[in-house]
Amino acid sequence: MAAETHTEGAAERRDLAVRAAVEQGLLDSDPVACLLDVAGIRASAAALTGAFAAALPAGTPVLHAFAVKAAPLVPVLRLLADTGLGCEVASPGELALARAAGLPAGRTVLDSPAKTVAELHEALALGIAVNADNRQELERLDALVASAATASPLGMRINPQTGAGTIGALSTATATSKFGVPLRDPDAREWLVRAYVERPWLTRLHTHSGSQGVPLPLIAEGVRELHALAEEINAAAGRRQVDTLDIGGGLPVNFTSDEQTPTYADYVSALREAVPALFDGSYGLVTEFGRSLLAKHGLVLARVEYTKSAGGRPIAVTHAGVQLATRTVYAPAAWPVRILPYDTKGTPRTGPPVPQDIAGPACFAGDLLATGRELPLLAPGDVIAIPDTGAYFFTAHYGYNSLPRPAIHGFTLSPAGGARFTEARPAQSLREIVAEGGGGTGDALL
Ligand SMILES: *Cc1c(COP(=O)(O)O)cnc(C)c1O
Repeated sequence: MAAETHTEGAAERRDLAVRAAVEQGLLDSDPVACLLDVAGIRASAAALTGAFAAALPAGTPVLHAFAVKAAPLVPVLRLLADTGLGCEVASPGELALARAAGLPAGRTVLDSPAKTVAELHEALALGIAVNADNRQELERLDALVASAATASPLGMRINPQTGAGTIGALSTATATSKFGVPLRDPDAREWLVRAYVERPWLTRLHTHSGSQGVPLPLIAEGVRELHALAEEINAAAGRRQVDTLDIGGGLPVNFTSDEQTPTYADYVSALREAVPALFDGSYGLVTEFGRSLLAKHGLVLARVEYTKSAGGRPIAVTHAGVQLATRTVYAPAAWPVRILPYDTKGTPRTGPPVPQDIAGPACFAGDLLATGRELPLLAPGDVIAIPDTGAYFFTAHYGYNSLPRPAIHGFTLSPAGGARFTEARPAQSLREIVAEGGGGTGDALL
């Protein structure tokens, strides 16, 4: 169990990594560094694969496609590919990253609500699986399928309209969500069944109804709707036309402690309870997890530059803010993060708790990672660590104030307690910032 949830010793492992990062000078030339725990990522991938393998008859085809948007980094995609995972991509950029990581077409799935004809054409030429979002996109597929043979498995995304979680912006299965064919709208079900029966090449069905804030039973209800629709289509077709169900991702992550809950095993249990037939081996499965594979294995380290007091409130001005934790800064109630204090040597800072604001470097007043957070009083040169940031935080950089994308280092701990770091992505240079800011076309508006 410890291996699966990887919670035991998490704090000790993190302390070793922070100490080694400071000792090895990762924060010397840059005030921010991001860390990824290589063994932790492998353990999560193994937990995902193991949870489904344990529940399915041997030989059932399963593809676990990592949602690239959660950590769009070639070394991460390659590490996950090495554990047998695939990639779920939703833009030409994400597809390019997956291809750069060497992902074969057969392990790549394209979902996006706004695929252009050119993107669809490329995906079908490559043989990548495509889930069409809507009726108009299906018409585009009709034309493409008629014009050239393709090896791409094709399906439609449905919105089971099972309801929202606690975070509105991330709820994909509300009555009015922008994704997929809304299953409970008038005539939608009949239209879908007919669309499949008329198109023998539609062999998959897709939904992604979970996300942060969505409870497991609600996710499972969406998958149950998907399975029931597949059975209905196959009955109407008189054969097992739909052979694969893509059940999406969306396992929530615990941001309040080092415990990894819910687990993939919990998720599989919830599915088995809601839709036992999913595990009888009659359908191949595709999953698309993102956050739950990476979040717990990422850590931001940032130096405290100054400490001050305003209106009686101590404030630590650090180098980690909106550029790395965009959602936390703009929606702090939905996306709280833990702040772990270390001293200048990278040793955990102890002391009586004092309510402090933890501020970022950006030039607007709301750039705060935490307000009134009780922590040992921070001092200049201290280091703060922000755990659970491996997905959608530092890998989803926000370019405000031209703050650079920081370096990302993978780390591996040795049994003796040493840490080895390898740079997975260099820090963005000032030259690159100038180039992205039109430095090469400086006269364009004269
Ligand atoms: C974002 C997304 C995922 C991954 O969601 P997580 O919450 O990161 O697991 C999977 N499938 C689709 C279609 C998505 O848009």
